[in-house]
Amino acid sequence: MSLLQAEVERRGERMFELVDQHPESLFSKAGFYQRMMALSMRDEHFKVQLFRFVDVLASLRRSGDIVQHLDEYFTDMRNGFAPLVRTGVRVAKIVPWISGQLLRWNVSGMARQFIAGKNPDDVMKTLRKRRDQKIGFTVDLLGEAVVSEKEADEYAARCLELLEHLADETQGWTDPLGDGAELFPVVNLSVKISALYSQMNPADPADAIAHLAPKLRPILRRARELGAFINFDMESYAHKNTTLELFKALFTDPEFRDWPHAGIVIQAYLRDAEKDLLDLIDWGRARGTRFTVRLVKGAYWDYEKIKSRQNGWSVPVYLQKPESDVNFETLTRILLENESIVTAAFGSHNVRSIAHAQALADELGIDRSRFEFQLLYGMAGPVKRALVEMDYRVREYCPVGELLPGMSYLVRRLLENTSNEGFLRAKFSENVSAQELLRDPTDLLPESANGAKDFEISGEDRHLRDGAPLDMPPGDTYENAPLVNFVYPENQERMHAALLHVRSQLGQKYPLVIDGEKVWTDKTIASINPSAPDEVVGHVAEAGIPEAERAVRAARQAFEKWSRTPFETRARLLERAADIMQRRRYDLSALEVYEVGKAWAEADGDIREAMDFCLFYAQQMRLIGRPRLTQHVLGEESYQHYWPRGVALVIAPWNFPMAILTGMVSAALVTGNTVIMKPAEPAAVIGAMLMEIFEEAGIPPGVLNFLPGKGSVMGAHLVDHKDVDVIAFTGSREVGLRIWESAGKTREGQRELKRVICEMGGKNAIIIDSDADLDEAIVDTIYSAFGYQGQKCSACSRLIVLEENYPRVMERLLSAAASLRVGNPEEPGITVGPVIDKTAYERIKEYIEIGKGEARLAFQRQDVPEKGFFIPPTIFTNVHPDTRIACEEIFGPVLSVIRVRDLDDAIYVANNTDYALTSGFFSRSPANIERAKAEIVAGNVYINRSCTGAVVGRHPFGGFKMSGGGTKAGGGDYLLNFLVPRVVTENIMRHGFAPEETPPYRDEFLVRR
Ligand SMILES: Cc1cc2nc3c(=O)[nH]c(=O)nc-3n(C[C@H](O)[C@H](O)[C@H](O)COP(=O)(O)OP(=O)(O)OC[C@H]3O[C@@H](n4cnc5c(N)ncnc54)[C@H](O)[C@@H]3O)c2cc1C
Repeated sequence: MSLLQAEVERRGERMFELVDQHPESLFSKAGFYQRMMALSMRDEHFKVQLFRFVDVLASLRRSGDIVQHLDEYFTDMRNGFAPLVRTGVRVAKIVPWISGQLLRWNVSGMARQFIAGKNPDDVMKTLRKRRDQKIGFTVDLLGEAVVSEKEADEYAARCLELLEHLADETQGWTDPLGDGAELFPVVNLSVKISALYSQMNPADPADAIAHLAPKLRPILRRARELGAFINFDMESYAHKNTTLELFKALFTDPEFRDWPHAGIVIQAYLRDAEKDLLDLIDWGRARGTRFTVRLVKGAYWDYEKIKSRQNGWSVPVYLQKPESDVNFETLTRILLENESIVTAAFGSHNVRSIAHAQALADELGIDRSRFEFQLLYGMAGPVKRALVEMDYRVREYCPVGELLPGMSYLVRRLLENTSNEGFLRAKFSENVSAQELLRDPTDLLPESANGAKDFEISGEDRHLRDGAPLDMPPGDTYENAPLVNFVYPENQERMHAALLHVRSQLGQKYPLVIDGEKVWTDKTIASINPSAPDEVVGHVAEAGIPEAERAVRAARQAFEKWSRTPFETRARLLERAADIMQRRRYDLSALEVYEVGKAWAEADGDIREAMDFCLFYAQQMRLIGRPRLTQHVLGEESYQHYWPRGVALVIAPWNFPMAILTGMVSAALVTGNTVIMKPAEPAAVIGAMLMEIFEEAGIPPGVLNFLPGKGSVMGAHLVDHKDVDVIAFTGSREVGLRIWESAGKTREGQRELKRVICEMGGKNAIIIDSDADLDEAIVDTIYSAFGYQGQKCSACSRLIVLEENYPRVMERLLSAAASLRVGNPEEPGITVGPVIDKTAYERIKEYIEIGKGEARLAFQRQDVPEKGFFIPPTIFTNVHPDTRIACEEIFGPVLSVIRVRDLDDAIYVANNTDYALTSGFFSRSPANIERAKAEIVAGNVYINRSCTGAVVGRHPFGGFKMSGGGTKAGGGDYLLNFLVPRVVTENIMRHGFAPEETPPYRDEFLVRR
């Protein structure tokens, strides 16, 4: 055993002795809370329900609602709690007032365990008690998630107020240790950076810093005058780099350069924590003034893991608990070895981590007065006491705020306390032995943790190798291509470089492609940049009727061979196309920024979706490609299989210019059809790129023909053409219905009934229930309504709000809309860019005028760029459900808010439309959620999330009624639309004799002759 380990054990044991002298269970509050936590640790389902109940409780105003939710959350429990709840609910229904209040009181008690005071006055009582116990403080202001600049400004003002108050009330207080006091001011405020700016976007740290620095300067200035300390707390990974950069920028500023009382947090659970800490130390040395680092493991472990897995990103946190523990110790060493420039604050309740810091400090000869331990209010009381008894400096992290906004904090603490992996549970609830708890975490590292990290493969190149997704599990589950994570500076730089590169290529000419040949025509379509209409993105040759005829002939001819090409070959072609998209990913995204005005993340999402379509349909084709024996019947073989339909005409919209075009084209191709691809005119250059991609992937001549042109002329001609067998259309209702009608007529010489795959618009509604979590509902509604300028067919254009929380929803919604970043999407972090073209611009403006006559214009942004087709985000209230703005598709950043009495009304209004595409519902009532799932009429119903952003394979997308023919792009049955099913049956019995076995498939059925 190393000397250090021996010393860690000695100190750890001493701490445990001291801890055991004041025995305390995991939860100092006895009774209700104790029982809840004990049950949570035994029963995972109960834990989930309890946390959800706690989360909603504070927003419930009426006692009857509390009792109702209690009933919904707990009566189906299969543990001892259920009968209790049932009895409680029965009594409560008779006297709801008493029961509701009792519950609220009990849960408030839980919250009070972790929240040091409701307001600055209240918290002083706690701080004075701690002072008597020789424990210092850092105060943190709890609050709702900040969704607007109004709320951010309020937070900044509250910080200043709190600072003044603390300084006032603590005059004359001295440091409990005396030695080293100059490093540790008495007043210490912890600040949440994300609460100071509502539009923080990981892609745009410069913008965030430009907005945050002016808000922080007055706080820092005042703190310095008052002799206080300011700490920047660390939040989710998305904000980590910005927070670090902001810290460095502010404290390099001449005004604060020589101020030593600033601190920042490093989270040891992050794989890049060591690099960040070393960078900070280098920065600190160059700056020449001390600063502080609070070392913690990190509070967002579950969130980071879930978020990364959802987006296909490398997980930034360690996945094994001992890895975080080991890293904490590595970082402890770095901090202590650099004590000359950085003051260490160890934020942990783990006696092993604490004892290690103590032992190492001793080994390095660092006096205990030069660092401190920080622990959370309401947790690990005996550990704090033990540390004080051992003459260490202890500071308590004290959250201040109302219980309602504090609920998310409470839930995080509850999760932490009941986590299987946590130290506190192990020590105080499960009585794990001291020896076990003090083990060197390096010994606990699992084999795989020492190198082979399962998510280390870069998100960028993870998915394709020899055409096969590396991590695609066998069977029919599909793992999506990852999104680009713009949190990484290198990805931001690549996007900036791509924008420059693509800009240098604007204005080029692109030909038609027919039968593998480039074809130039007299006329061209000029595709322009909607942010700068004098800028031509490219000139694309325009096809007329003669070219359309040529394309049909070429496609017809190529069908002979393509339909007989093995599906595996066709699937591989799609995978090669996805590979090329991945290679050209940033350039393609940049092109979307210029050609259709998409914000960075939206553009990347579109390219990702295009790749997903290729990969997903390739995989789906492999699943359905082989003939399938229909039944095992002796004496007979009956196989079902699919043949392609023929020539497919693909007519795509401009709003998802790569994704939807690729989706329809790749589905048609992989199923063995040949294709005439007509991109939307405003996105014709992106169409040309897709043609180039398929050419590079090796598409044979005639199999895919690129035919941009006028929809009303060339498009209509092809729709009516006797030799076009399938029409895959996504676009407006008007055109869609015309295609549907035309395809119903049979022309002379036509051999097939035309199949139409038709996806049209929506008038999508989001309902906000009276108990909804507004932090989420507001952000997601704003994103659904104004993301990509409201030009997604899935966009929210009607917001239905229940009377009960209407004032609060509107207050937050309007100020959130007022805070949105509107501008040229070349800039990273823009949310609202221009609409697609002049026609759209004028049509939306007209609707806004109509709205002014029909409803109340509650909000309209004024500061939008003059050049370009920028429509200010607009919100109408007092909207009657029958008015035009509430019924007609506007396809722009215009939101109509409809106020309703109750959920019955809300669902009625949501469903009372011609369309059925997407719908959203925000609620925390299990019963209402079940109701919404069953009753909302839409192709895609989204609960407690935005109603846009469908992911291939995960959310098969498409609507019915006037939204479409009921097909689901990106779904398991989509390819069937491009195929005709066929069954071949053979009697294999000869004179009463038949083979016992039938083979699983027959290759001879694969091709159509
Ligand atoms: C005073 C104070 C201030 C804090 N400030 C912040 C802050 O600004 N930002 C922040 O993010 N956190 C902060 N924290 C940390 C956080 O809130 C937790 O309290 C802390 O991470 C718990 O660690 P521990 O050492 O006390 O307990 P332990 O039980 O030893 O560690 C639990 C921690 O290990 C990590 N972990 C759990 N499971 C795994 C796993 N499977 N794989 C890898 N790692 C895992 C998680 O970080 C978890 O929180 C602060 C903590 C304190 C005490």
